[in-house]
Amino acid sequence: MMKRISKYNTKQRKAISSYLISLQGKHTTAAQIASYFKSTGSPIGIATIYRQLDTLVQDGRVAKFTLDGVSGACYQYISEDPKSNETHLRCEKCGAVLHIQCELVDSLPQHMYEEHGFRINTMKTVFYGKCSNCMD
Ligand SMILES: [Zn+2]
Ligand SMILES: [Zn+2]
Repeated sequence: MMKRISKYNTKQRKAISSYLISLQGKHTTAAQIASYFKSTGSPIGIATIYRQLDTLVQDGRVAKFTLDGVSGACYQYISEDPKSNETHLRCEKCGAVLHIQCELVDSLPQHMYEEHGFRINTMKTVFYGKCSNCMD
């Protein structure tokens, strides 16, 4: 059976990519994308968003960050600017997922690789702890 690529699908994929590009390296989730398109008056179904994101990930244009079973995945348009890395912090008390940009953490994978012979999978790495709201 031939796989048909409808014009409609391509249009939605373009809309999703340009939204991801507009975030300039910031992460988003499928649910956030859904609520964004709902707010623009041309909603896209969540199943379609997941499907389009999968295609963009396969094409190597979007990075998928797998956090844990609870928080779902984050998506980021892959830009040429390597400084746009975001690190995930997860609060064990309230469950909040925080995104930070930190030069020290950015240098960690290289250090681990060179000094300890271990390649960190940054797409799956989450730091667990307590957020500032939950600290005693
Ligand atoms: Zn994220
Ligand atoms: Zn917290």
